Amino acid sequence: MKELMQVITSLPELRKIRSHLAEPVGLVPTMGYLHEGHLSLIRKARQECASVIVSIFVNPTQFAPNEDLRRYPRDLAHDLQLLKQERVDIVWNPSPEIMYPTGYQTWVTVEELTQTLEGKMRPTHFRGVTTVVSKLFNATQPQRAYFGQKDAQQALVVRRMTQDLNFPIEIIVCPTQREADGLAMSSRNVYLNPAERQAATVLSRALFRAQGAYEQGERNAQTLRDLMLSVLKTEPLANVQYVSCAKIEDLREWEGKIQGTALLSLAVFVGQTHLIDNVVVGGSL
Ligand code: AMP
Repeated sequence: MKELMQVITSLPELRKIRSHLAEPVGLVPTMGYLHEGHLSLIRKARQECASVIVSIFVNPTQFAPNEDLRRYPRDLAHDLQLLKQERVDIVWNPSPEIMYPTGYQTWVTVEELTQTLEGKMRPTHFRGVTTVVSKLFNATQPQRAYFGQKDAQQALVVRRMTQDLNFPIEIIVCPTQREADGLAMSSRNVYLNPAERQAATVLSRALFRAQGAYEQGERNAQTLRDLMLSVLKTEPLANVQYVSCAKIEDLREWEGKIQGTALLSLAVFVGQTHLIDNVVVGGSL
């Protein structure tokens, strides 16, 4: 019979148990408070890999001081219940002190892909992401790692880092899971009050409007950005940070006509809550 799921909080213990895992090993990095979006990644890993490791770590270094680290939602007991049902082999749940002991001073940065979109709004965010993902890769040594398209720039930045640093790991990007009304699932949706929750549907409505126009033949990048903005402006609770129609290769804005794959993305504050969403047209991530 297969062994039960093991919840591990120390590095030596993780290394020991990792060395006995059947390969390929799939890693799904998360910050916990799991929802169907996370579970879709885990199910894909379960289908494709002999062993599955899920990490749960609310990574302090990807939050700026003014962001929501302290109130980020957590429910480890419920997460573990869900992960057991998904037949996960190992849950890696380190403390911040294990990940960043006193004296810690080493960082991984992807220089260019992080300058646009979320990186412009949150200048230290991706340095925190790439550093923690490198540490997770080193600790768990997976053959495959699963990320959500919901955080498209993150997936592209991690893929770049994986290539640049020669991690022998395949990065697999899985589709965004949505609520019935289109809202992309996110742990942060729990912050929304009922009026904000309703207002938050404007993100996917704006994206789907632009995607529809693209499918009808519209190729002008500015027209697509304007379309998204016009939908967002109908929602008084939405405070737009950016709308973008960017080249998938470098995440710089398309000017004039789109001539390849485009990432349509947006970031919006609904009340105090920072929400992002995207769709890809003319290709995939
Ligand atoms: P997080 O816990 O928010 O850091 O997310 C962990 C992983 O789950 C990341 O790779 C996210 O992109 C992915 N993820 C989060 N929300 C969704 C979603 N709605 N659909 C698919 N993947 C998601």
